[in-house]
Amino acid sequence: MLSRRVNYFTESVIRDMTRLALKHEAINLAQGFPDFPAPQELKRAAASAIMDDYNQYSITWGAKDLREEISRKSSKYNHIEADPDSEVTVTCGSTEAMMAAMLALINDGDEVVVFEPFYENYGPDAAVSGAVPRFVPLNDDNSIDEEALAAAFNKKTRALILNTPNNPSGKVFSKEELRLIADLCVDYDVIAVTDEIYEYILYDNKKHISIGSFDEMTDRTITISGFSKTYSVTGWRIGYALAEKKLTSALRKVHDFLTVGAPAPLQHACVTALRFPDSYYKELVKMYDGKRKLLYNALTKAGFGCTMPEGAYYILADIPQGAGMDDMDFARHMVSEAGVAAVPGSSFYRSETGKRKLRFTFSKRDETLIEAARRLERAHTAWRN
Ligand code: PLP
Repeated sequence: MLSRRVNYFTESVIRDMTRLALKHEAINLAQGFPDFPAPQELKRAAASAIMDDYNQYSITWGAKDLREEISRKSSKYNHIEADPDSEVTVTCGSTEAMMAAMLALINDGDEVVVFEPFYENYGPDAAVSGAVPRFVPLNDDNSIDEEALAAAFNKKTRALILNTPNNPSGKVFSKEELRLIADLCVDYDVIAVTDEIYEYILYDNKKHISIGSFDEMTDRTITISGFSKTYSVTGWRIGYALAEKKLTSALRKVHDFLTVGAPAPLQHACVTALRFPDSYYKELVKMYDGKRKLLYNALTKAGFGCTMPEGAYYILADIPQGAGMDDMDFARHMVSEAGVAAVPGSSFYRSETGKRKLRFTFSKRDETLIEAARRLERAHTAWRN
């Protein structure tokens, strides 16, 4: 009765953990959304947009003033020149941009290269679009296994999905690594679909580089980003895709029939976001850097093995030695016994590696993280014994 494609994936484990957290009144470090308010100026801009009657459909591919601001931002920050009229599409979050990109590119059986660990949406994105995912595990230190990457490309490869800064690993891809990926994309005539939603959340002076800024990638990259993370408005559902005209035109066709368009008043408010001064982004990083250190120390104290992320707002941690449980059991145990929710690592891996891991987000108020730290430390005594 149901389509074959829905059998390829289960409901999101992340949102499932959120429901479990609510049930047990646990602190939710599972789903990556801020529990603190969005910027005041942005909320005012959204309220004004509604009162000023931006309440009907916008142009399907996005309000003109927003596309112009996105184009300006992308030129300045990403070094990508995208014509606002023909190369920028505003979508319902970067989630829709990724799905629309895949539906626009993929024919049944085409292969898509995906690094592991991966953001959990990419598996279902591949399944819905009919793609066969080819997972390429990163090395333990998050570096690229060059041989494995090259071996994943073949005549059937249509696209490669990249996510930098990365959820869940916190990896920020370097210029050299992106060059390697770009060379393979050129050699095999492959499109890079790059999810750069955490592009402003970078630590220790790491720099964000967009593969779409490389000359040879201009016509073979779909660059995706959005407002959810940078401006703490995950519920607004505004994202966008930049791509050369032909790719954009295909993506826009899918987008139009999927959603018609992103919420008009919120698109209008996002223009205000893109005009924030540079100091906004500096403050954002400073805030998340403090939270990163807080969670890192809490997890280390509670017996988890972890490394500091280079970007984004997650820590992918090894379950404490001696816990004697896999990721699913340990995640459930943590919710009910410690009162802290995290995501089982297997959501981000096709291989067994994920079973040893949990992902925590630190996109929460300091009070929330401090209380989580207290709970984890208390529970740690039980894991040790
Ligand atoms: N891409 C990555 C890597 C994410 O981590 C998330 C949210 O957690 C998204 C996309 C979703 O972004 P949006 O809210 O723009 O749909």
